[in-house]
Amino acid sequence: MKTDRKFQYTEERFADLQLLRYNVEGFETLSLRQKTYIYHLSEAALWGRDILWHQNCRYNLPIRHLLEEILQNYKGDRQSEEYQQFIVYLKRVWFSNGIHHHYSTEKILPGFSEQFLREAMKDVPDHEQYEALIPVIIDPTVMPKRVNQADGEDLILTSACNYYEEGITQQEAEDFYARQKGEGNPEEPIMYGMNSQLVRQEDGSLAERVWKSDGMYGEAICHIVEHLEAAISYAENEKQIEVIRLLLDFYHTGDLATFDRYTIAWVQETTGRIDFINGFTEVYGDPLGLKASWEGYVNFTDLKATGRTEKLSQNAQWFEDHSPVDARFKKPSCQGVSARVVVAAILGGDLYPSSAIGINLPNSNWVRATHGSKSVTIGNLTHAYDEAAKGNGFRQEFVIDAQTLALLDQHADVCDDLHTDLHECLGHGSGRLLPGVDPDALKAYGSTIEEARADLFGLYYLADPKLVELDLTPKAEAYKAQYYSYLMNGLMTQLVRIEPGCQVEEAHMRNRALIAHWTQAHYPEAIRLIQREGKTYLEVLSYPTLRNAFATLLAEVQRIKSEGDYEAAKALVETYGVKVDVQIHAEVLARYKRLNLAPYKGFINPRYEVLHNADGVITDIVPHYDESFTEQMLRYSRDYSTND
Ligand code: ZN
Repeated sequence: MKTDRKFQYTEERFADLQLLRYNVEGFETLSLRQKTYIYHLSEAALWGRDILWHQNCRYNLPIRHLLEEILQNYKGDRQSEEYQQFIVYLKRVWFSNGIHHHYSTEKILPGFSEQFLREAMKDVPDHEQYEALIPVIIDPTVMPKRVNQADGEDLILTSACNYYEEGITQQEAEDFYARQKGEGNPEEPIMYGMNSQLVRQEDGSLAERVWKSDGMYGEAICHIVEHLEAAISYAENEKQIEVIRLLLDFYHTGDLATFDRYTIAWVQETTGRIDFINGFTEVYGDPLGLKASWEGYVNFTDLKATGRTEKLSQNAQWFEDHSPVDARFKKPSCQGVSARVVVAAILGGDLYPSSAIGINLPNSNWVRATHGSKSVTIGNLTHAYDEAAKGNGFRQEFVIDAQTLALLDQHADVCDDLHTDLHECLGHGSGRLLPGVDPDALKAYGSTIEEARADLFGLYYLADPKLVELDLTPKAEAYKAQYYSYLMNGLMTQLVRIEPGCQVEEAHMRNRALIAHWTQAHYPEAIRLIQREGKTYLEVLSYPTLRNAFATLLAEVQRIKSEGDYEAAKALVETYGVKVDVQIHAEVLARYKRLNLAPYKGFINPRYEVLHNADGVITDIVPHYDESFTEQMLRYSRDYSTND
């Protein structure tokens, strides 16, 4: 199948959400064996959906059932305002894998009345069984938050997530796991409590209900196991087979030491093109940070994009030698990091529909320290975000003129990716501390200074002829697009993520503000803010001068880091990185609000069709992009549901 220009990246928009589609770029170039491997791993990724729904809140699955029954059976007026509100609510619940907002974890309050719900339920077969769900849906005081982190409250009793049986207190859970840790191996600690629900037994004591093939979530896990077993015959190498066998072993036993052995094998498997995550992974959904939500996804290496990061790391020493920092602060021998850029083939569990675009695993500290970790950036998701941002009016609103707009439309995406590569593969790894300097000398300013250092390294080299020579940038002038959008973001548009009256707090945002405001203050001949018809715009007067500015600041930031100059770090961050111009902030917020953009985005998966010949042998597997969000959700509820 060819990727033509008509691929539809943006789908529907409701509440604070927008659904996008991602293109599985290059799937058609894989061998049938690779496609079949991906197919079985994808099925395994989809089978964990209901585990996550149940982990998020114990009422999620019956509520989904009820809402989908109303959708199918409703006999009232489907044009009415309340019914439309019902549809929005259902889609929001689908998107969040439950009744709490996927990001804020606050309960989603429906836009329809209790009376509407009671009437609508009458059209549903056996509706009496759903009676108890009404207050859970309607009453804002019942289970108001999925993950409560408010200091001073009992975080378990006040959180709606389903990792601890009702009535278990935070103190009880903490004592239970403190005891487990006390008895375990302190050198190689397992991920205590990661794959179980904590429950109260008849005698009042606590015990773990473990998630495994003959335990809790057993039915879903058996389906996952079945597809992992099927995948084995199509693996690309012996190591992948070992990885899957260890994972199967873990799913059968629930043994956490086996889980560590599985993650170690997974980290060591680096030669195959196809990779996957399948299992209990991230702990953000548990207020105590122990219990892992289920997620699954499958990817394959984007050879072209990964070639880009490899090229940079192979030339790491050249970049180090030519950087504008003092020779004393340079590394005599420098190795770049080669990050893998991948194409996502399916998203499942806690990575669906809302997904991360970069993933670094495993989470076990001792495994990371001893065996390392694997990092990926998911190129086709980033690409979908970029495409969705085109024509949403954002650049038209904030970019100064048509010429600059054309420059950004042409080169901004490529240069932004390249800037990220330079930042990750070279920037963080460059430079060295002087002997005897404490790596934590910059204390609270350390992470902002470190991000600024990596960003400046990237900005400086983005304009270097070396990148044209390495065939990484389309043409010598392309860097201007990144210079403009970077500074526009640092001076103005990143303020849309800050509440009125607040200051800049997050380290990456502080670093961008720092670079932009420092440049504005020291190089008025390079950039300035101007007013046009009551609106503020960034004007770049000289791009080459900008590069000099970045070189000067990079040299200073590297000096601060290498010497551990806390006072200079503090002055730089506090003067340029923290404060918000109240007037510009208000203006930017107002202009952004008028664009009516969705703050959160998620993805619809492709649908894989398996083609057979007359003898039932698989002849090809083809991704389709024709399902609506509603169709996909109903299909998943139909085909991947369990009675667990
Ligand atoms: Zn960074």
